[in-house]
Amino acid sequence: MGKDQAICCSLCGRNKKETKVLIAGVSGHICDACITQAYQIIHETTQAEQQRQAKSSMDLLKPKTIKLKLDEYVIGQDAAKKTLCVAVYNHFKRIHNDVPTQELEIDKSNLILVGETGTGKTLLARTIAKLLNVPFCIADATVLTEAGYVGEDVESILTRLLQAADYNVSAAEKGIVFIDEIDKIARKSDNPSITRDVSGEGVQQALLKLLEGTVVNVPPQGGRKHPDAKMIQVNTKNILFICGGAFDGIEKKIAQRLNTRAVGYTATNSQRIANDHLLQYLSPQDLKSYGLIPELIGRLPVLTYLNPLDRNALRSILTEPKNALIKQYQSLFALDGITFEFEDAVLELIVDKTMDFHLGARGLRGICEALLNDLMFELPEAEPRVSHYTLTYAQAAKKLQHLKLDTLNAA
Ligand code: ADP
Repeated sequence: MGKDQAICCSLCGRNKKETKVLIAGVSGHICDACITQAYQIIHETTQAEQQRQAKSSMDLLKPKTIKLKLDEYVIGQDAAKKTLCVAVYNHFKRIHNDVPTQELEIDKSNLILVGETGTGKTLLARTIAKLLNVPFCIADATVLTEAGYVGEDVESILTRLLQAADYNVSAAEKGIVFIDEIDKIARKSDNPSITRDVSGEGVQQALLKLLEGTVVNVPPQGGRKHPDAKMIQVNTKNILFICGGAFDGIEKKIAQRLNTRAVGYTATNSQRIANDHLLQYLSPQDLKSYGLIPELIGRLPVLTYLNPLDRNALRSILTEPKNALIKQYQSLFALDGITFEFEDAVLELIVDKTMDFHLGARGLRGICEALLNDLMFELPEAEPRVSHYTLTYAQAAKKLQHLKLDTLNAA
């Protein structure tokens, strides 16, 4: 017997000639086939364990619990929160349904959030993904075009989700995708025109399959710049899609449907409030009159709205959420050993300015930056050393006196 034949895999007994690789250990050998098989067993066991853990963490998070957690980060918006929590809870129940052969298939609960810009649509989606510990990505519907045209294909959305999941396909397949500005891909007009509507209705058509659940070939790097890249197959069946849009002027469509008077430019304050409240009557029909195609609306069965933020809400957003802006600035100063405080009147002033500029919560950060930038520049190296600083109303008012909307970084 040759020397090669004497050495064999200690697990399966194959000799060296019958294997591609035979790795030597302290008191034996293992062949490539056994390594591959062992790896598969490990992989399957860890995956089953991960699924079990994900399921048990979901078991803990019932809709009310999820909402309480959301409340720590997002102010107000109770109607949207409740709908979102129930939809997400049902979604995960559907994914973790133990009896796959059940005849009854539960439909996907993709959502659509309607509300002015800066009212917390993205924040809600992002926060819920974080709470559930699933991969999350944001896609902008305005950059999408029908396949073959200049712009991004809808598959690029999944590239981003894969990146967020560190290319773990099975994690990405249970992720959450937020598609922003869905209202901007509304059909341009009711009349089919000669020119194709490649960025409007075309994109809506392209999104249908993705939303419903299909296996998509996803370019790992995104775009068509890497034609040689190997495609990754992603099944979107268990991906939750949350779409958001401002749907400017949709109140008029609601009012028309409800047969009440639509409010024009000459609206008085009380009429304006009535207008704001119309959103609660939002129905799929209104989205259709706005220009979303019925097939798309059908695949986004859960519909909810976010209220415009009033003064009180803005004031709360400044200080109450777990990662409130004011807390963030204070901890930045604290890293330089400075205890930084704001007079209450300063906070009121920030809110007043934000209201003046009509920027919603998005404006708060811009105004805080304008207010604090010089201090963040000076204080860390101030001589003598500063360990405690209180920003007074007088200082803040002076600083913000000449602040113009167009110089504000309110992105
Ligand atoms: P939208 O997606 O509706 O345009 P965002 O969710 O991006 O708005 O909100 C912009 C920023 O404003 C968020 O990062 C957050 O800091 C703040 N914000 C908006 N709405 C809320 C809210 N309801 N509670 C707390 N912060 C909010």
